[in-house]
Amino acid sequence: MTLKQIKHLILDMDGVLWHGNRPVPGLPDFFEQLKSMGMSWAFATNNSSKTLEQYVKKFAGMDVAIDPKQVMTSAVATGFYMQDAFPAGANVYVLGADGLSESMSKAGFNVLERGDYETPAAAVVAGLNPGVTYEDLSIATLQVINHGAKLIASNADSTYPSERGLLPGAGALISVIETATEQQAVVVGKPYPIMFQQALKMFGDGATLQNTAMVGDRLNTDIAGAVGVEMRSILVMSGITQPEDLPASDVQPEFVFSGILELAAELKKAKG
Ligand SMILES: [Mg+2]
Repeated sequence: MTLKQIKHLILDMDGVLWHGNRPVPGLPDFFEQLKSMGMSWAFATNNSSKTLEQYVKKFAGMDVAIDPKQVMTSAVATGFYMQDAFPAGANVYVLGADGLSESMSKAGFNVLERGDYETPAAAVVAGLNPGVTYEDLSIATLQVINHGAKLIASNADSTYPSERGLLPGAGALISVIETATEQQAVVVGKPYPIMFQQALKMFGDGATLQNTAMVGDRLNTDIAGAVGVEMRSILVMSGITQPEDLPASDVQPEFVFSGILELAAELKKAKG
């Protein structure tokens, strides 16, 4: 298959569209070009720290207008997972930023106050939280050990790409609680199928695994997940993956480009 059949793109954000608050060069142009080719796109990120409105604002600050309905975060996907796995209205303790708390409330759960180790929670839901303290990690640990709360992770990314370089990701924070509680977290985000399935649904009926591609910068999440659900995959080398990582990887993308501008140019060529 070639790029020609691809009509829908699921775009990872960190390392693909921006690094921290710095957009990749030509970001607004990229979306103009997709539009001119009649393509549609959605966003799927393992980053659970921001709310959908915060993403709309972040894009607007980079001169790109988006609809919050185009965004699938691991926080939103975790809400869907929780609805399947726990009774409506159950108490949850959130160790994560606004995005995760918001999606737990929207999914119908009772989010306990920060610091509440006495009210039993059915689950500790954890994601990346740049403001996390030893006390927060302690409360999450107490909920698991004292009350038998299940440990759920919005994602298990080991690192988080920032303007300064790689910082500890959600997976690194969650491993603190895993070590203390000797419990393994259930992980919702990429490479697990739920994010991909939810993102595909955002395009409506015409979208299939054959005409939709995941565009990401990380082999072990974006590409491994797409390959796992048999969705098409495009790796961009603008983020985590370095050229020397690729030959050694047992996960291989269908296409590799330097970044989104090269992707747009190649799509244009393929579609004539
Ligand atoms: Mg990324």
